[in-house]
Amino acid sequence: MINRLIANTIPLLPERFVWLFSRSYIAGESVDAAMSACRSLNSDGIKTTIDILGEFIRSLDEARKNRDEYLALIETAQGAGIDGNYSVKPTMFGLLIDAEVCYAHIRDIVAKAADYDNFIRIDMEDSGCVDLEIDLFRRLKAEFPKNVGLVLQAYLRRTRSDLESLMDLHTPDVPLNFRLCKGIYAEPRRIAFQRHEEINLHFLEDLGFMLQKGIYPGIATHDRALVDGALKLIESYQAPRDRYEFQMLYGVTPELRSSIVDAGHTMRVYVPYGRHWFGYSTRRLKENPKIVSSIVKSLLLNR
Ligand SMILES: Cc1cc2nc3c(=O)[nH]c(=O)nc-3n(C[C@H](O)[C@H](O)[C@H](O)COP(=O)(O)OP(=O)(O)OC[C@H]3O[C@@H](n4cnc5c(N)ncnc54)[C@H](O)[C@@H]3O)c2cc1C
Repeated sequence: MINRLIANTIPLLPERFVWLFSRSYIAGESVDAAMSACRSLNSDGIKTTIDILGEFIRSLDEARKNRDEYLALIETAQGAGIDGNYSVKPTMFGLLIDAEVCYAHIRDIVAKAADYDNFIRIDMEDSGCVDLEIDLFRRLKAEFPKNVGLVLQAYLRRTRSDLESLMDLHTPDVPLNFRLCKGIYAEPRRIAFQRHEEINLHFLEDLGFMLQKGIYPGIATHDRALVDGALKLIESYQAPRDRYEFQMLYGVTPELRSSIVDAGHTMRVYVPYGRHWFGYSTRRLKENPKIVSSIVKSLLLNR
């Protein structure tokens, strides 16, 4: 209760204060900081997916700059030999201003990744974006079958039916590649499961569907119960190690992450960086108010 109150207040506080919390969950503001975080993860046998922070932009001028920043990032990361791919948020390219412009920008980014035989993940944003982001994915998947994937959110009631309707894009040679996560946005009960147990139940049902159909899942969770459930499903479907991966956010549950890596499963960490860390951080805080106690601890340690 107190944590939630503090979490709601924190966005109103000076950025310097929020940075105390953010610095554990963000690689830094610069591309160099992102490269160094990725190198360190790679040296521990962990793959990465790099995300430039920013979302829900207001002008198409910003969209073009964001596209250029991603194109430069891909050049830099490929040149540095980073073992990883890239994640994009469509609202950062103007999805809600002009979906066609957004498509053209993301197409440029996917084409650049395809030049390196690499891959772009389209993050899933709030429920107002889901149809648009599925459409975007469909168009890009048709042109770049191996180089693009999507995120699906287990808390949405529609997800199972989305999964089924996307099966027309699936072939055994070039399987669909979906990151499955719980979903981070506050959505109404009408469209989204609310209770932890029902979200977890649907997460595992969706994952079971993917493994059964040969879809490549990125199992994105820090919830030990889901990791254990996923491992059971992987065993019961006898999924080979190169047909799935686990994914976690930078700085979150490093011990659980290491235990998965040590057991020989592929792990990919989402590495966010950039100037727009404030919005990302306050969203994380609202999602997980328990983190507030660690901020208070870090404040005390920094005295
Ligand atoms: C790689 C990756 C990509 C994602 N992409 C998207 C996306 O495109 N769209 C979307 O809607 N959501 C995305 N998410 C967020 C996701 O939907 C969940 O909101 C988030 O992962 C928390 O759910 P959980 O499964 O970890 O379980 P929870 O039950 O929320 O967390 C389990 C435990 O993990 C720890 N933990 C979880 N989150 C945090 C945190 N932020 N900071 C510190 N500790 C934490 C806590 O100890 C918590 O008790 C992504 C998550 C990951 C891992």
